[in-house]
This record gives sequence, C-alpha cells and structure tokens, in this order.
Amino acid sequence: MSRQRSKPSPTPFVRVAPSGVHGLGAFATQPVPADTFLGFYEGRRYTAAQVASRDWDNQFTYLFTLSNGETIDGGKGGNATRHFNHSCEPNCEAVEEYDEAGNMLLKFQTLVAVDAGDELFIDYCLTTDDDSPASDYPCRCGSAACRGTLLAPVEAAVVGEDGSKEASGDDEGAVVSFEEAAGL
Ligand SMILES: [Zn+2]
Repeated sequence: MSRQRSKPSPTPFVRVAPSGVHGLGAFATQPVPADTFLGFYEGRRYTAAQVASRDWDNQFTYLFTLSNGETIDGGKGGNATRHFNHSCEPNCEAVEEYDEAGNMLLKFQTLVAVDAGDELFIDYCLTTDDDSPASDYPCRCGSAACRGTLLAPVEAAVVGEDGSKEASGDDEGAVVSFEEAAGL
C-alpha cells in the first residue's frame, strides 16, 4: 500500500506564503467556487504499524492519518496542501476517496467560495492517543466558532466535562494525528 509519486502533483489554485495564523499558510491564487478540487494531500505513506515503530521527532506537523490507518507524511514529497492551517470555521475540507487501484487518497477542496488571496483552512479535528488536555493544542484561528483547541470537537467536549457530549459526526476519516509526536 505504499504509494508514492515521483513528484508532487500541481495545486494551481494554491500558493504558499507566510500566514498571520501560523507559519506558512496556503492562499487562493484566484477566486475559487465552493466544492472545487484543490489538490491531493501527498507525501510518503506509512502503515499504522510503521507509524507506531517510528520516531517522528519534529515532523509531526505534516502527518495526516487516514481512516484506514495509513499516515501520509507531507513533509516528504508533499505539495502545497501540507501548508493548510487549521481553523475551527474552515473554508476548505479534506475528503477521502479511493483511486482505481484501491488506494485511499486525501482530496482537499473548498467548502465555500473563496476570493483570491484568501487563506485556506481545514479543520484538523486532531486526535491523540493519550489524554492530553485540549490546552496542549491551542487554537488561535480567531473565528467566532473557535473551540480554543486543535482537537476534534468530541475530544474538546470530553475535556470540558460540561456534560454536553457532542455526538457530532465529525468522524469522517480525515484526521490529523499527532499521537507519536507527543513524545510518548
Ligand atoms: Zn479555532
């Protein structure tokens, strides 16, 4: 299942530039309608077993774990999609799909129409293997709906312990996983 392209595929609607939110960000090169394909999240692929036996050091920000257990390391051979920052109110989303050969791909697309120059965001819906408090993964996206953490909504609800167990269906596969990077 280790699928690797010789070079990253193009992302003509996306350019990479310094972000006001965090490090480098991804920005629209032109006005883009809603539900438009922006690119595939690419990079070196690892099986769940390979991920578990590996020391990730500081590469964690480019790891994207798929619902089939595979992890894509965008730090190695990734394209501009690896620079999408997180927002709790994103204008883009990551969607899994299968290619003809049965490989799971991660497709980035717009959720809403964006203008040229807009920074592009997805909701990382971060998960961790341990019980790290949500405050370990602070979010500064600044949106009105900010959860205050990069963790997935259900995790945030658990940490909050306010009884509002949110069965939000944000379970649709594409999650970023920092569990190995947490150094445990
Ligand atoms: Zn936020």
